[in-house]
Order: sequence, then structure tokens, then C-alpha cells
Amino acid sequence: MQYRCPKCQSPKILPVADAQTPAVRPVVPKSLVVLIPAIFVLLLLVIISIALWLFGDGAGQTLQIATVVVFLLCVVAGIFFWRDLPDFKISMQSFMSANKHWKCRECQHDWHI
Ligand SMILES: [Zn+2]
Repeated sequence: MQYRCPKCQSPKILPVADAQTPAVRPVVPKSLVVLIPAIFVLLLLVIISIALWLFGDGAGQTLQIATVVVFLLCVVAGIFFWRDLPDFKISMQSFMSANKHWKCRECQHDWHI
């Protein structure tokens, strides 16, 4: 089982869905679905807070509360994701080995396992 392009050895490979072998999607844990947008929102709120602090008279109370709430959401989702991680790894591994048709993003090489 190789996760690299056999032609150029690039790790940037993409699974291709075939009519015969539809690409089986790995089971993405719900905690990850919450965690990723929560981190983005947190980053955005932190950037807005810093910008307001630098160019204005500090972040408003609403913004501070929102930042704390989103931060706590990130922590909770992070803990849940940590618990889901072993299952997610197994799901990813079975997805990688179940998929037979791959394409390389570097050299456009297309191959079947
Ligand atoms: Zn390649």
C-alpha cells in the first residue's frame, strides 16, 4: 500500500471515484466538523479583537464574551475529537486501502492499485 505517486513520488494524491469502485468516504467525526469552523471563527474573533485594540479603544464586551464562548467551544470540540481520534484513524486507513483508483496532483499521473 503506497500513499505516494508511483511516478514522481509526490504525496499529493487524490482518490478518484470510479463507476465500478465508488470512492468510500472516511467517516468524519462530528467533533471535527464542529472543531474546524470553531477554530476559524475563534481566529477571526481574535484578529478583530487585536485590530480593535490596536486601532480603537479596545474590544467591546460582546466581542469579548463571544471570543470566550467560541474558545470554550473549541476546547470542548477538541476534547471530543481527541476521543474520536483512534476511530478516525482506523476509518482513514480503511478508506486509503479501500480506494483503488488514484490521481497525482503534481504530474497528473493516473493509476490503479
Ligand atoms: Zn506524480
